[in-house]
Amino acid sequence: MQHAKPLPTYLAQRFHGWKATSYAENAAWYRRLSSEGQHPRAMVISCCDSRVHVTSIFGADTGEFFIHRNIANLVPPYLPDGQQHGTSAAVEYAVTALKVAHVIVMGHSGCGGVKGCLDMCSGNAPHLEEKSSFVGRWMDILRPGYERVKDQEEDRRAALLEREAVVVSLENLMTFPFVRSAVEAGDMSLHGLWHEIGGGALECYDPKTGGFVAV
Ligand SMILES: [Zn+2]
Repeated sequence: MQHAKPLPTYLAQRFHGWKATSYAENAAWYRRLSSEGQHPRAMVISCCDSRVHVTSIFGADTGEFFIHRNIANLVPPYLPDGQQHGTSAAVEYAVTALKVAHVIVMGHSGCGGVKGCLDMCSGNAPHLEEKSSFVGRWMDILRPGYERVKDQEEDRRAALLEREAVVVSLENLMTFPFVRSAVEAGDMSLHGLWHEIGGGALECYDPKTGGFVAV
């Protein structure tokens, strides 16, 4: 592979800074994490967006969260078709091997993936409708959510669809037999969150009302 380059200097410098401070002060703990393996209590499924800083907002340490990130924090429906499914593989490993107690789906404000879905479903993004668009085909997962928000006021639709991305993912999680059985046995719980980046707010899905309430 001739195309990979050495690490940019600014990142190499930051790494050495971490090694000399955070790592050096906690080396014994890192060694324990290494020898004992990981035992995260929660899996978090969040967006790739660089502003969604899951470990920061929960003050989480190394080894605490099993994190999977993808465009618009989506979980596809259970589809055992022999093809490659990154998100489904992460869910399977977290639930069946790590036996996490919580699966948290976290959406966020200003989500570019959700905006793309809104544009695509309303006929304003023909490039996303093409078969060759990975983002477009991925956002097809959210089409049932679009159907539920399409008649709302235009300026509220994006924020509502961001929350629908969480609800659709929770619904799809329950189509995985190993998720359903862990939830029904009371061994694992599902949670839906929406994070408002500018105001630093967090809302939690309320199954009683089907809405989101401030944490
Ligand atoms: Zn996003």
